[in-house]
Amino acid sequence: MNIKSIPFLDLVSPHMELKAELCEVFQSALETGGFVGGPMVETFESEFAAYCEAKFCVGVGSGTDALTFALLATGLKAGDVVLTVPNTFIATTEAISQAGGTPDFVDINEQTYNMDVDKLAEYLETQCYVDQQSGNLVSRKLQKPVSAVIPVHLYGQPADMDPILALAERYGLTVIEDACQAHGARYHSSRQQRWQTAGSIGRAAAFSFYPGKNLGACGEGGAVTTNDESVARHIRMLRDHGQLQKYYHQLPGYNGRLDAIQAGILNIKLKRLQEWNKKRREAAARYLALFRAAGADVVMPHNPAWAKSVYHLFVIRVQNRQELQKYLSQEKIGTGIHYPVPLHLQNAYQGLGYAEGDFPVAERVASELLSLPMFPQITEEQQRRVVESILNFTNENALQSKRAGRYVFAAS
Ligand SMILES: *Cc1c(COP(=O)(O)O)cnc(C)c1O
Repeated sequence: MNIKSIPFLDLVSPHMELKAELCEVFQSALETGGFVGGPMVETFESEFAAYCEAKFCVGVGSGTDALTFALLATGLKAGDVVLTVPNTFIATTEAISQAGGTPDFVDINEQTYNMDVDKLAEYLETQCYVDQQSGNLVSRKLQKPVSAVIPVHLYGQPADMDPILALAERYGLTVIEDACQAHGARYHSSRQQRWQTAGSIGRAAAFSFYPGKNLGACGEGGAVTTNDESVARHIRMLRDHGQLQKYYHQLPGYNGRLDAIQAGILNIKLKRLQEWNKKRREAAARYLALFRAAGADVVMPHNPAWAKSVYHLFVIRVQNRQELQKYLSQEKIGTGIHYPVPLHLQNAYQGLGYAEGDFPVAERVASELLSLPMFPQITEEQQRRVVESILNFTNENALQSKRAGRYVFAAS
């Protein structure tokens, strides 16, 4: 019998649904010759700012550009230390280096996989001192000023922003949200006694529109959101060779613009984002219910009461990850690992001088993570097969001596 494959991610169905509208964007660009800048970019910027409940949005070339420009526009100085987590996509730290900063890490919380705010407090309190002359907070180990922190809203779940903002205020740090996986995620601030949307919480936030993200372009794209007009203005210059007026350059900038066709495509897809995020949440709830009903020996994602995740990824933890991934691939079920090697152990960052054991939570978690198929169009039937396959695998493993029957859910 042929089993149907279940992809990790489906980038075809959502585009087929919208094919006619998406093609119109391309046609209108051809007919008007508007390929860079112009009304499609401006419309998207104001719509996305509104979606994120931020005052300003500036479209840029990628999420990496968005992080780089956000750091530069909020005043990062050459050499300054920027703190983030070791379990993010490397773009977070690449942007820090590209902006002239020095990345350093704080370990993560084992439940949420986001920045451990107690470890952040400990770093600032015990691993830094205030330089009497400059008034700067200086890292003892790096002998450089610590000036910013980038919490990552990993897998679509917001980091715990209240304590991060409180520490940032106390120590004079700039907070840039890495919201590249969190379009539409919400955080309940007890300081403000209200729900906030990712992208409106820090001094600025970076979004990626890489095709696989919750809001994806048909190519590359990114954006910075901020409530600070001067930051938005600075980023408009940075993305366009340091100019606001053609050929009058205020500073040496970059070629880092969002192009008009991508902006037009994003405008169309943005109208569906709320519904797609809702479907992701429903799919996540189904996974949770199916695993719980079976009492599976698998660690589920933890969703604190103050977080509304948009489930960019649905990530479980298991002991024998490698074997399970292989088994699922034989069952034609696509999975991913986000991410197999924490950044402090990557060859690219050997220069930072870290070793195994330095960020034990991030390291332990990295060896156990497995991202299951997750996309808005995933069906309950597909999810049942994913969970059944995982249960069959864990049963066979747990009961090697006994005889375990094949696990099949009763029909719903
Ligand atoms: C995707 C991603 C980025 C980078 O975005 P690009 O558009 O690929 O440059 C940065 N940080 C995180 C956490 C991401 O997932």
